[in-house]
Amino acid sequence: MKIGIAGVRGSIPTPTGNTLFERRVETSKYGGNTTCVYVEADDGSQHILDAGTGIRDLGVYLASQGGFNGQGRELNLYITHTHWDHIQGIPFFGPAYVPGNKITVFGEAKVRGVHDGVKLSLEAAIREHSDQPGYFPGLLCVEGEGLQKVLQNQQSFRNFPAPLEALRGVQQYNDFIAGMKIYEKGNLSIDTLALNHPGNSIAYRLTEKKNDGSKKMMVFSTDFEPDENGFDEKVIEFWRGANLVVADAQYEPRGSPYTENKFMPTWGHSDYYTDLMMATMAGVDTLMLTHYEPKMSDMYYDGLFERAKTAAVEIAGKLGKRAVNVEMAREGEWHRL
Ligand SMILES: [Zn+2]
Ligand SMILES: [Zn+2]
Repeated sequence: MKIGIAGVRGSIPTPTGNTLFERRVETSKYGGNTTCVYVEADDGSQHILDAGTGIRDLGVYLASQGGFNGQGRELNLYITHTHWDHIQGIPFFGPAYVPGNKITVFGEAKVRGVHDGVKLSLEAAIREHSDQPGYFPGLLCVEGEGLQKVLQNQQSFRNFPAPLEALRGVQQYNDFIAGMKIYEKGNLSIDTLALNHPGNSIAYRLTEKKNDGSKKMMVFSTDFEPDENGFDEKVIEFWRGANLVVADAQYEPRGSPYTENKFMPTWGHSDYYTDLMMATMAGVDTLMLTHYEPKMSDMYYDGLFERAKTAAVEIAGKLGKRAVNVEMAREGEWHRL
């Protein structure tokens, strides 16, 4: 699979430039768009993880490739959760407006739903469908905020001139139960896990079988707050054996002297040290840090990268395991698994 980094920032876009009160921090090296990652599988299927502002330029790129002009090309968009930094690019995603494209948007079902006209609790839905590899086409959230409803609200008339219904290239919104396998086609399958974050975030694990029988695994695991032990067993299991984990490193580890603000891992986010501990325990090959803090500059992240590489070796020594390779997510870069 081919992985393109389209947005790396958490919380709010962070363009380079001067503000009214200071020379603005440089962000052009790592990037200032909110979160978005593109994955193209070996079989040509196309997948997008999150729809922060990075999805706008990704849409321009996809259109330039000539595939999204209404000829029925399929594209799946997986939303980790509906905080703004993960959905605010949708109204500016060009391919979504082209009738004839076949875009499906996936997100976590939050409430009791209706499936084929039968009202099911989430627990009953899991029981009834746990043997199915698929998602729930047509699962409607009847209470609270289904995915489609949340996205409609983002594009209500007073918020944005074009309603969600103008996105005629989107064919379906699928609310799924966290923990399910939501995609299995050709050589690619996608599993999900609910992460600890205000209102939950979903981690997606893409597993691709290669022709020689081997497999490659990539996990997108952002907006996660570790528990009081400093990590989370469920997440470690989900990451186990992955070739690449793209993980939330918005804040500094507890007690770090490297930030003047008092960020503690309490706003639903993780840090590079916790991610490295978990990745080392899970036997991950490469940990790619992302969801960068808007206040922080390229220079800060250059320093953090060095500290993370040193920590990777220290942690490996402490745990008696292989050291994880650390990378920083940078907009505009491609990776191959
Ligand atoms: Zn976020
Ligand atoms: Zn969030």
